[in-house]
Amino acid sequence: MKKTITYTVLLLLITAGSFAQNERSANDHAHNPWYSNTDTTRLQVSNTEWKKILSADLYAVAREKDTERPFTGKYWKSTIRGTYYCAVCGNMLFRSDTKFASTCGWPSFYEPVRKTSVRYQPDDSYNMHRTEVLCGRCDSHLGHIFDDGPPPTHKRFCMNAISLNFEQDVKKK
Ligand code: FE
Repeated sequence: MKKTITYTVLLLLITAGSFAQNERSANDHAHNPWYSNTDTTRLQVSNTEWKKILSADLYAVAREKDTERPFTGKYWKSTIRGTYYCAVCGNMLFRSDTKFASTCGWPSFYEPVRKTSVRYQPDDSYNMHRTEVLCGRCDSHLGHIFDDGPPPTHKRFCMNAISLNFEQDVKKK
């Protein structure tokens, strides 16, 4: 009996610990000295440095141009009002007003907050001609842009949810 209780307590502690770890890696930027929602100065931080700071999943997408599996990211279906920031550096990227229901399985927007929020570069990988979208502040890979979006821009910024950090609008009282 005593043994069972000890094992149960141990299991609970381990579970609580892993939840705390997940919570920390998703939302706590205290360990990231470059994270800012207001500073728009361009960053030049080496991948060696980013690797020490970012979670392995975010590093793979943001710094090694990996793509998360469609319909798995946390924001692809979201319709909550708020702002999407770069998950690596905190740069303001998209407003929820420009997000649209896309069937591709990744969060999709028709326009960034500012022209300088993002930058573009040709991507000819996988025998395709695509345009890659990168964070305008830290050059992290966000996703790609396509010409099949809705009005008024007819663009589709197809983003990896893991590269985004969402902050909900504070409701007015
Ligand atoms: Fe960034």
